[in-house]
Amino acid sequence: MTSLAITFADVEAAAQRLAGVAHRTPVLRSRTADERSGAELFFKAEHLQRMGAFKFRGAYNALSQFTPEQRRAGALAFSSGNHAQAIALSARLLGMPSVIVMPQDAPPVKLAATRGYQAGQPGSEVILYDRYSEDREAIGRRIAEERGMTLIPPYDHPHVMAGQGTAALELVDEVGRLDKLVVCVGGGGLISGCATAAKHRLPAIEVIGVEPEAGNDTQRSFARGEIVKIDVPQTIADGAQTQAPGRLTFPVTRALVSRIVTVSDAQLVTTMRFFAERLKQIVEPTGCLAAAAVLEGVLGDLRGQRIGVILSGGNVDLAQYGRLLQNNPEIA
Ligand SMILES: *Cc1c(COP(=O)(O)O)cnc(C)c1O
Repeated sequence: MTSLAITFADVEAAAQRLAGVAHRTPVLRSRTADERSGAELFFKAEHLQRMGAFKFRGAYNALSQFTPEQRRAGALAFSSGNHAQAIALSARLLGMPSVIVMPQDAPPVKLAATRGYQAGQPGSEVILYDRYSEDREAIGRRIAEERGMTLIPPYDHPHVMAGQGTAALELVDEVGRLDKLVVCVGGGGLISGCATAAKHRLPAIEVIGVEPEAGNDTQRSFARGEIVKIDVPQTIADGAQTQAPGRLTFPVTRALVSRIVTVSDAQLVTTMRFFAERLKQIVEPTGCLAAAAVLEGVLGDLRGQRIGVILSGGNVDLAQYGRLLQNNPEIA
């Protein structure tokens, strides 16, 4: 048996590094959601995390373990959004430079926020690239080499995976027994960390992953038993537009997650509207993946069960948010 990239001890150590730095986000309840699903739903509100997504956990956990030499040169990341903000904020909190390689078409709000988090930190900048023609990893590695910076990938890194797992650790420690934990899946950093934490605390729990219909690279990889790479998916869930699960995340996901389901962009919009109207919460499209699977009936009959649901982020351009809530996703 090959060993997995992280253990429960790594998640616990991450929780100690994050104590007093990351928010211990609230667990939201909704009578309407419970009635609709027949289950007791516990929403872990990571859209209320620092910088608006769980990604702060993994980024800070990784950067706080840099050597003094690594801190001097700083951190580099390539990201379509939330990981960028997470690295920029973590770097500034730890007093080191950051360079973020971002797609030209990243949501403007995420671009602006990233630059905002870098403000006042010498040596920090955003570098833009074309997502459809250029290889962000190649660009990232070149700059990292030129400037001596340490590249921190958005999901395929043990410190990132362990940091993300602290979200589920907090949830389980707060609410106790759960029958299921439902988690969105992009590259698999969040679900691999969360499954590691949840399965350790509650061995009988079923962990389920949720991908956008158009971007089901992990679901296909599960079916094939090996990593499958797809074209850049077209979906409003921009945080889950990954082309393949990670080399480190995939074995953990395969070992601990029972199945991967998908939801459509239309189901994401319905769920965003539900959170806005009923819970008065702004949750970004990707952040709604897990909740959509539960609330839109994708997981089947859930009556009588206690279900943890990760709301992963809330960073959405308000103009786009308004369009999505008014229109169907095709014309948004
Ligand atoms: C990054 C991100 C995801 C996907 O996380 P992975 O660790 O890549 O699976 C989901 N939701 C939001 C809001 C994100 O920023």
